[in-house]
Amino acid sequence: MWLSSTVSMKTKKSEKSKYLKAELEMSEYIFSSLKGNSMKLDGGAMFGNAPKALWQRWIMADDKNMIDIGSRSMLIQTPRYKILFETGAGAYLSPPMKKRFQVVENNHVLLDSLLNQGLTHADITHVILSHLHFDHAGGLLKEFYDGCHSIELLFPNARFITGKTQYERSASPHIRDRASFIPQLDQLLEKSGRLELKFDQDVMDLDGLEIMFLESHGHTPGMLLSQIRAKDVNVLFLGDAAPGHHWINLPITMGYDRNPELLIDEKQIFLEKAYNENSWVFYTHDYDYAASKLAYDEKKKRYVPIELVDDFNLFVV
Ligand SMILES: [Zn+2]
Repeated sequence: MWLSSTVSMKTKKSEKSKYLKAELEMSEYIFSSLKGNSMKLDGGAMFGNAPKALWQRWIMADDKNMIDIGSRSMLIQTPRYKILFETGAGAYLSPPMKKRFQVVENNHVLLDSLLNQGLTHADITHVILSHLHFDHAGGLLKEFYDGCHSIELLFPNARFITGKTQYERSASPHIRDRASFIPQLDQLLEKSGRLELKFDQDVMDLDGLEIMFLESHGHTPGMLLSQIRAKDVNVLFLGDAAPGHHWINLPITMGYDRNPELLIDEKQIFLEKAYNENSWVFYTHDYDYAASKLAYDEKKKRYVPIELVDDFNLFVV
């Protein structure tokens, strides 16, 4: 097997497209990271009980204490399938709601990122959602327009995959996390006839690409992490278990996590597994980096991210 870990950002455009074309033709599985709509969120809320004196060394906050939050999807192309993990916040929010949730761009950025790959949302065969918070599932929906009173699904040919427990939570949220879910999305997904609900340890095989779902309850009940195996390449899609590389540090959790202690225990297991399997870990909200591998730092007595990449492009042949 030949693996190219990433196309260098420094490669000249003409060389890059020539290189990409050759690799696409040879590859059985193509992994790409795609940008979606970015946001600004309160730095304190993003770092839970960590004091600002600590987290401001990692991320700069603006005068309102807001920090930049990316939203990144992962696309895997196999000979027959195009599998998208997460859709970001998208552009379905009305202008006042968009302002409230601090979504930055007006357009649906993920659709443009798909176009850059020569694809539209109609080409996607599977959308896998770790959970149904609006900043992961909002991109499923058509852009807001004046006079629009209901939400409508994009991705007309995709199966929508999420966890059963998470789906039930989204239909009946707790008052603490109600604002994070999209009202009526559960019914829309069910009505599509293309919703598939998964459980812990469920496995999908798509052209020999194996996706095993791992349930986690610390961030939100029934969130599904995806452990992906493409030949001897492993990728762990973390969802919001660690939204960026700073959260690899076990005690660092978000104020949005419903049960931070449980999440820390779960992270310990997931990260140990990723380290033992030399797996890439994929970050959905990291503003700067798409993925990394993990090393164990003997001095710090914890896992640390290494080989951080700002774009994640893998060609597995
Ligand atoms: Zn979330």
